[in-house]
Amino acid sequence: MKVTEHIIKANGKTQFSFEILPPLKGQHIQSIFDNIDPLMEFKPPFIDVTYHREEYVFKEMENGLLKKQVVKKRPGTVGICAAIQNKYAVDAIPHILCGGFSKEDTENFLIDLDFLGIDNVMALRGDAVKSETYFKPEKDGHAYANELVSQIENLNKGKYLDEELLNSSTTNFCIGVAAYPEKHMEAPSLDSDIHFLKKKIKNGASYVVTQMFFDNQKYFDFLSKCRAEGITVPIIPGLKPIATRKQLNLIPHRFHVDLPEDLIIAIVKCKDNKAVKQVGIEWCIEQSKELQKAGIPILHYYSMGRSDNIRTIASKLF
Ligand code: FAD
Repeated sequence: MKVTEHIIKANGKTQFSFEILPPLKGQHIQSIFDNIDPLMEFKPPFIDVTYHREEYVFKEMENGLLKKQVVKKRPGTVGICAAIQNKYAVDAIPHILCGGFSKEDTENFLIDLDFLGIDNVMALRGDAVKSETYFKPEKDGHAYANELVSQIENLNKGKYLDEELLNSSTTNFCIGVAAYPEKHMEAPSLDSDIHFLKKKIKNGASYVVTQMFFDNQKYFDFLSKCRAEGITVPIIPGLKPIATRKQLNLIPHRFHVDLPEDLIIAIVKCKDNKAVKQVGIEWCIEQSKELQKAGIPILHYYSMGRSDNIRTIASKLF
């Protein structure tokens, strides 16, 4: 079922959903199930599965020279989605990137998803490869998510890359896209970022999921700005409970979001990571309660491979 249909079906009740990462190459899929199992009692309408593009690693050869190798550390997005739909009978939402994909790769990926009975896709540009500063599209790939959205929407209309394919079957994907209440790191301004968000929606996206934020006011302000700009689709908040002291620096660095002063002070006072985790859980519960009270249709949690803290939070709310 489409995300938009899940929202209508819930009839105003706030629902719980979450995102998982494929395991590192070499790990068993059971590690994914072990994280999902404890969260199923909160009846998520869908589970997102992230996509991780290739990375470059340099391996030393016998002659001392370095050899550049392309590796994918977390493959398996599509397989995990299929496994989730089979095992839990819940909608799985694969993330799909511009990065690393030609248009032909994208089309073939979407055909696989369609054949697997996947109804939703999260369309993203992706970041630059780790060793590079700027995002570079593939030759014959997409430079921005709005172009990827157009390709998916074209397939929904039965328009394939090969225009000579006649009477081709249509797909029916519900398309999600990303947004950033605190602005995407590359955008010159929030207004500019919202302008391009509008373009993704105009091109066919039906819902939005936000980057994590720790101050609800930032989300509420962003929501008002988007509504004022005529964006009417659901804007699902992304939430992440802080779990370690290290994340105090890592999260702003990696996700380009600010942490509220009160949260920083509470974390700095903690004796160990067990205490930090508790602070993170309590903060996230308060954020979630306020969002729930505001009638937000879905709260989407970034599990990042662990479910114990998400479970504690969900048990207080859902
Ligand atoms: P875009 O919408 O293309 O925007 C990128 C930047 O370009 C923005 O600054 C925007 O303002 C600007 N822009 C957009 N269109 C144009 C245009 N036509 N001309 C000029 N400027 C433009 N990354 C992964 O690798 N895997 C994942 O699974 C993944 N999941 C994510 C899930 C969520 C909910 C979020 C919020 C992010 C996720 N990301 C993931 C990270 C994402 O790939 C990065 O944040 C990436 O840098 C931007 O992706 P986007 O889809 O928002 O890009």
